Amino acid sequence: MLDKLGSGLREALRKIAKSGYIDEKTVDELVRDIQRALLSADVNVQQVFDLTKKIKERALGEKPAQGMTPREHVVKIVYDELVELVGKKAEIGRPKRILFVGLFGSGKTTSIGKIAHYFKKKGLRPALIGCDVHRPAAMEQIRQLGDQLKVPVHAPDDEKDAVKIAQKGLELFDKKYDILIFDSSGRDSLDEELARELKTMGEVINPDEVILTIPADLGQAAGPQAKGFSELVGITGVLISKMDATARGGGAITACSVTGAPVKFIGTGEKHEALEVFDPERFISRLVGFGDLQSLLEKAKEIEFKPDTAKKIASGQFTMNEFYEQLKGMGQMGSLKSVLDSIPGMGMKMPKDLDLSQQEGKMKKWKYMIESMTNAEKEDPSTINSSRVKRIAKGSGTDETEVRELIKHYEKMKKMMKVMTGQSKRGGMLAKLARKFKGGF
Ligand code: GDP
Ligand code: MG
Repeated sequence: MLDKLGSGLREALRKIAKSGYIDEKTVDELVRDIQRALLSADVNVQQVFDLTKKIKERALGEKPAQGMTPREHVVKIVYDELVELVGKKAEIGRPKRILFVGLFGSGKTTSIGKIAHYFKKKGLRPALIGCDVHRPAAMEQIRQLGDQLKVPVHAPDDEKDAVKIAQKGLELFDKKYDILIFDSSGRDSLDEELARELKTMGEVINPDEVILTIPADLGQAAGPQAKGFSELVGITGVLISKMDATARGGGAITACSVTGAPVKFIGTGEKHEALEVFDPERFISRLVGFGDLQSLLEKAKEIEFKPDTAKKIASGQFTMNEFYEQLKGMGQMGSLKSVLDSIPGMGMKMPKDLDLSQQEGKMKKWKYMIESMTNAEKEDPSTINSSRVKRIAKGSGTDETEVRELIKHYEKMKKMMKVMTGQSKRGGMLAKLARKFKGGF
């Protein structure tokens, strides 16, 4: 599925990961590679340019969060922007009535089988109602689905009024089953007759979801179609079918997303199981190689600034616990620094020997040492006498000098925090910081 787009994006990011440093030239090349990959998947040119412009601005303009290398930072930006491009995650709750709409051959009936299977696996009981009175053998097709899935079907051959079939279906199944799924007739295009027919059906069925099926091979032409159906009959979501059979699916997804019609499902084959609930983050992660991204995203999360710790520090509390929080995730101390740096007039120089964000090995050891302390020792490290130092060294697999060095650094850091919290009449820099972040603090 979308192999070419995926390999194009992966290749672009791999180049970045290999490059020595990030400058305008590397970013330009990255952006060009991404453009090429997206255009080959039929993503709209304007959308591609808007996206790459944003990537470029952010990659060159934003400072990486502490603990993240400039390269990782750029990869994260590309990931974020791609997720944004394909849309928001739509909720699939537990609809009672679903109406499928779409043009001839777009995959309505096949997708109805998939959706029925999807909800059945969740332990719900679906029933199918065949209201496609135009296509020959449409009734037979949906009855076969019912047989395969062991799901009841109302699809009479001798009734030519779709509304009457829908009404009868409601009568038969609405009380007895969890989810009613209605098929409908397609046309070659969304003409007035089809619009009228679907509107009336909508009024009779009163569906919780109206799902438009669009074949992925339409590429960006999916956009106008989604818009047309949206305006004329109202839809709650799109199912992009046949994603397995074309390289243009990227264009179909992004074009729908831009019209505001959320893509909710993706069809990836003819079998009942070939259906995915569309999740932009998962979709992009997989597209650009999940393995590589996973660790990067976890890291990004880890170094997010922790308001809780900052709040305690701002109020003057600085035990070994706060010190530890700063160390955790390598760069916590750095993140506090970057917050301070970002406030005008509050730029603060972190003493060199306290800035440990680059010394991963040392920080790991310190973590082990602090983990070997008792709660009382963490609350008041001045109680750590030499026999305790010995015990902590043993427990953490370090030596006593290292434990002493940790305590020394803790004291130094604490002193600095004190200076900061008591620096002005209004309570010092950190108190000001706390006021600035009053929402989060
Ligand atoms: P309808 O006219 O909208 O009801 O469309 P159908 O459900 O009858 O599907 C038309 C054709 O598309 C059939 O041959 C299906 O097997 C095929 N089809 C539907 N969904 C998919 C899909 O996700 N992948 C592939 N490869 N084929 C699909
Ligand atoms: Mg059909």
